[in-house]
Amino acid sequence: MIDRVAEKYEIVVGLEVHAQLLTRSKIFNSDPASYGGAPNSQVGVITLAHPGTLPKQNKLVVEYAVKMGLACHATISRHQIFDRKNYFYPDLPKGYQITQDRTPICRGGYISIKTKDGKEKNILLNRIHLEEDAGKSIHPENEEDTLLDFNRAGVPLIEIVTEPEIHTSEEAALVLMEIRKLVRYLEICDGNMEEGSLRCDANVSVRQKGHPALGKKVEIKNMNSFKNVQRAVDYEAIRQITLLENGDPVISETRTFNMQDGKTYGMRTKEELNDYRYFPDPDLSPVEISDAWLHQIQLLMPALPNDLKEKFIHQYQLSENEALALTEEKEVALYFEKLCAANGLFKENSNWMMGPVKSVRNQHKWLITDFRLSPATLAELIRCVAEKKISHTAAVQQLFPYLLKFPQADVMQTAKELNLLPVNDTGELDKLIAEILKEFPLKVEEYHKGKKGIVAMFMGELKKRSQAQVDYKLANDRLIMKLSQTDGR
Ligand code: ADP
Ligand code: MG
Repeated sequence: MIDRVAEKYEIVVGLEVHAQLLTRSKIFNSDPASYGGAPNSQVGVITLAHPGTLPKQNKLVVEYAVKMGLACHATISRHQIFDRKNYFYPDLPKGYQITQDRTPICRGGYISIKTKDGKEKNILLNRIHLEEDAGKSIHPENEEDTLLDFNRAGVPLIEIVTEPEIHTSEEAALVLMEIRKLVRYLEICDGNMEEGSLRCDANVSVRQKGHPALGKKVEIKNMNSFKNVQRAVDYEAIRQITLLENGDPVISETRTFNMQDGKTYGMRTKEELNDYRYFPDPDLSPVEISDAWLHQIQLLMPALPNDLKEKFIHQYQLSENEALALTEEKEVALYFEKLCAANGLFKENSNWMMGPVKSVRNQHKWLITDFRLSPATLAELIRCVAEKKISHTAAVQQLFPYLLKFPQADVMQTAKELNLLPVNDTGELDKLIAEILKEFPLKVEEYHKGKKGIVAMFMGELKKRSQAQVDYKLANDRLIMKLSQTDGR
């Protein structure tokens, strides 16, 4: 029923994604910005907002944000100021958060996604701005007191804000995935959603299709997985449609998603929200990005997933799906690039990455960085198979597992030791064939009487007797030749 009703509506979503930047120190002081330290072990006087302390700009933070802007084709603001966003919260020691309100470091740009049904779409960005993270309130069970850990206070963040241009929960999850891929490629954020280094708020509204004005939006806070974003958007859209269908209004509010029951719950309405009274922070000087600095950052940009994907398709002649799978993770793409540089066998390398390498990684839950075989060794193995020095089966089933255990071993040497090299030495083959023909004179006679199928039986014998792999095509030719040389009487 609801499906039919839902058809009348369009879902509208805008995301606000926070990514913690991987700098060693915090955004406005030299306290460590790393995750997982003992509570309150990374808190100097500036983090704790002691009176008289002053913030100081971390330069690398600016470069990281610019990199993200360039990766999203955004316009970089050359002159920026920081603003104070005033609100009271126990884990915000200063009583305000330093952010960028009027001069976000990047404006515009887009994130490209491709939906399951193959549609490509650029989701426009409104802005990317810099700000500091807040501390963490901890509410231990069965305790009255709230504990405060200020380690996270002052950790640098970029906030990526999309335009309300996302229209399905799948698209919302895809945008977030794409953002995670980009920050990981740029190495500016580890993208670890469980640890909260990448967090997502989703703004959701619905409107009747064809209706020009956007509906009232609800903001769902802090989701920490792709799946939860998708579930939350789905739930929220249905909730709003149901309200509207019943003639009830949607109230602009902030809601939280409960991943146990899959529902959203109201936290506060917009009316209760603070007026943040933004104003320029007088303690920080404006940031000027000169042409030279921007150029320097441009030079430091690594290859991005889409560039590599295009390269794999056009230069390496791989399919779109292969190229997409190979560029999902930067380390995998770089490993694949090294394979290709070593042996030039693009298609074969792709098959190995998607086949044996992937299955062994899945089996052991290995990241590509846990995979101990060097690209040079794997490239050599693949080349030996391509040149038919080793059969594909022997390589996948025996040599590859052996090399994983002994990654330093030499490929051809090991193949020889494991008896995997096909016998293509005609001398050796002829010896075996002569032996067999001598042992089965009656069968030889049958052959000469016209029972040509008997060749299969001789081949079987040959397989049984040769411990090593046999080059069957060659063996077959030699066998028939030898048979024709024996007289038929
Ligand atoms: P606010 O002033 O309430 O923070 P903004 O205009 O800054 O709202 O937008 C914040 C986020 O909400 C952006 O990601 C934007 O795309 C999204 N958004 C704005 N209006 C809507 C709407 N009607 N429906 C869904 N998302 C919206
Ligand atoms: Mg806003």
